[in-house]
Amino acid sequence: MKQESAEDKTREFVDLCHEHGLKVTPQRVTIYREIITMDTHPTADAIYQIVKKEYPNISFDTVNRTLQTFADIGLVDVMEVFGGAKRFDPNVDDHHHLHCIRCGHVIDFFNRTYDELDVPEEIQEEFTVLGKRVVLKGICKACAA
Ligand SMILES: [Zn+2]
Ligand SMILES: [Zn+2]
Repeated sequence: MKQESAEDKTREFVDLCHEHGLKVTPQRVTIYREIITMDTHPTADAIYQIVKKEYPNISFDTVNRTLQTFADIGLVDVMEVFGGAKRFDPNVDDHHHLHCIRCGHVIDFFNRTYDELDVPEEIQEEFTVLGKRVVLKGICKACAA
């Protein structure tokens, strides 16, 4: 399990923005900082609610578009959610998810065996696999208490 400091992450963020010709604006830095400090895989709206405290004039659209841009350059992952708002994942390394069905939080976990899960041959014939993520559904400690 690799842990990077927020400072390292911010430096990486600045480098990646430069690489992709993206201006490093204070709003963008704030949006990125918030998504890496929230460990719940927030929706665009959850991030918007926090960022607008610092930038009251920012629109939801701007936040949403910024997150989409981050996703386009590989800074964050867009999580597959069925029938819910899109969530963003700042962890682009191989990892898996625990999904609490009560509070909706999604917690990261790391597992080498899951990373190396075999893809059945019949799937490989028809589908190019680019990534694997195991989702364990259940009830988190806080909700179970
Ligand atoms: Zn929960
Ligand atoms: Zn994750």
